[in-house]
Amino acid sequence: MVVRSEEGEEISCRLRGRLRRDALGVVAGDFVVLTRTGADAVVEEVLPRRNLLDRPTVANVDQVLVVFSYRDPPLDLGHVGRVLVGAEKAGVDAVAVLSKADLLAGAERREVEELFRAVPYRLVVTSSVTGEGLGELRPLLGGRVSVLAGQSGVGKSRLLNALEPGLGLATGDISPRVRRGRHTTRLARLLDVDGGMVADTPGFSRLDLAGVEPRQVAALFPELAALAPECRFADCYHRAEPGCAVRRAVEEGTVALWRYRLYLELLTEVEEALPW
Ligand code: ZN
Repeated sequence: MVVRSEEGEEISCRLRGRLRRDALGVVAGDFVVLTRTGADAVVEEVLPRRNLLDRPTVANVDQVLVVFSYRDPPLDLGHVGRVLVGAEKAGVDAVAVLSKADLLAGAERREVEELFRAVPYRLVVTSSVTGEGLGELRPLLGGRVSVLAGQSGVGKSRLLNALEPGLGLATGDISPRVRRGRHTTRLARLLDVDGGMVADTPGFSRLDLAGVEPRQVAALFPELAALAPECRFADCYHRAEPGCAVRRAVEEGTVALWRYRLYLELLTEVEEALPW
């Protein structure tokens, strides 16, 4: 495995035996302690992880960029919304990235901007053809570890290639499945992109709400969570309860209807998964 030192040196290392026996061992994004004796470098210790994603397995992730197009493939707000909820659950920042903006008519672009007007995540409108929005993305990537999310065909690899032309990623799927020993795993690598690092395997493809209780679903929507204390009832589920500040905000347009609908959908999913 290759470890990068704080000075930027790439060091080939082997793993101390007990780390090799650990099921997880060392994953992309880990901070590790090395000992070096001459040309020999050994990973002695993995420092505590701030977070750990699976599929792809990456530690200490700072943010997810959920990439989506408007037309090809058509915008699936449910998918985008679920990625944002997954990021919230993982405690990772999220940025919404509209791709292929060069294909959009003015009215379509305004429609997307309107959909995100009341959504508490930044929307960056980009085109890997014209270069639009890349200057806005660059400072967001610098010094951070990012994971891309988004359906296939939205242009994730094209976006990375446009940001970092030296990458030369094949467009299409970012990374093939790698077969290692008995397990077929998705080995994540971190690519250098604009002074930051981006996992070469997309993540957040499936929202896992296992362990989330109905009461906790609203907390995964920051704009709903902020309003909940203003609801008449402390145990408001923001459905049909009287004096619900969330419903009022949806009616007034200060909470996006699609976000509220996704909340209701996820609340129902979580309730139906309960064992009683
Ligand atoms: Zn309410």
